[in-house]
Amino acid sequence: MLIDTYGRVATDLRVSLTDKCNLRCTYCMPEEGLQWLSKSELLSDDEIVRLIRIAVTQLGITEIRFTGGEPLLRPGLVGIVERCAQLEPRPKMSLTTNGIGLKRTAAALKAAGLDRVNVSLDTLRPDVFKTLTRRDRHKDVLEGLEAARDAGLTPVKVNTVLMPGLNDDEAPDLLAWAVENDYELRFIEQMPLDAQHGWKRDGMITAGDILQSLRTRFELTEEGSGERGSAPAERWIVDGGPHRVGVIASVTRPFCSACDRTRLTADGQVRTCLFATEETDLRAALRANAEDSQDGSDEAIARIWKLAMWGKKAGSGLDDPTFLQPDRPMSAIGG
Ligand code: SAM
Ligand code: SF4
Repeated sequence: MLIDTYGRVATDLRVSLTDKCNLRCTYCMPEEGLQWLSKSELLSDDEIVRLIRIAVTQLGITEIRFTGGEPLLRPGLVGIVERCAQLEPRPKMSLTTNGIGLKRTAAALKAAGLDRVNVSLDTLRPDVFKTLTRRDRHKDVLEGLEAARDAGLTPVKVNTVLMPGLNDDEAPDLLAWAVENDYELRFIEQMPLDAQHGWKRDGMITAGDILQSLRTRFELTEEGSGERGSAPAERWIVDGGPHRVGVIASVTRPFCSACDRTRLTADGQVRTCLFATEETDLRAALRANAEDSQDGSDEAIARIWKLAMWGKKAGSGLDDPTFLQPDRPMSAIGG
């Protein structure tokens, strides 16, 4: 098991498949100037599948989320999903994507064994989309969403980040649209993971702001007893059901004490947290010749991974005045 000193057990693995992206969302990437990982730095498809196999068969991982950068830009994605679907026990598999290209790949991903997708969409207005993402691809995302739903990659969840002065007036419209289209909408508080290090707590739209805005048009009833377990989203029943809306309040209501995540970057580094400032290199162990030494064996890699997770910090540190934003932006960590 991947257990830490606070007794938390990681069962959910986030795998970043690439640091590249076809959008440039302002809260995630700079317009230009990011240094891409080289081909030799990136894990190969075989290396990724091997690490996932070790995680599933030796370390108790039951859920895999593929992410990036934009994971649909990884040419071997369908093959990776197909191979992971053969693992015993079979992990649950989902994908977080900006949706561009999903129209073309949704059916193949479903056939390969992908269970679900989360598609990121922050606005219903094409002009605002262009400002937020610096690309004119709004229509492609809407088409990708429909293709995912039609292919049965359900429930299709939509991730939305609200930015002050840009799309913060759209929460009720987005919820009405999601209900109508049978998507599950989840608002994510903006976190300090932008490449420009421009995030300010004062300016961010909080979970409280979002709920207040939604309540101007909808009746929201908190689901369950207010206990969200390890699930980051707190969920509300919309107008008596059956639709739900989620809010992921990573900044104002952190869920670190119940965190069940471990992360793997596209260049083979284990991160214990989005906000970790240290990483543990699994790629070096992977590439050590397992026949000549014990260093590259599955057991050795599992040991290094366990040790990394044992050192996971209690929390993100966001509330600490000495908080330092990680060097890598969200696109390179894998959101
Ligand atoms: N490109 C894919 C996408 O956009 O869904 C996958 C990677 S992206 C980094 C994963 C998620 O992180 C997206 O839903 C995006 O909105 C979210 N995200 C990126 N930067 C963020 C930030 N600074 N704060 C909160 N969420 C962020
Ligand atoms: Fe690309 Fe996703 Fe980051 Fe937007 S949030 S720039 S789509 S990686």
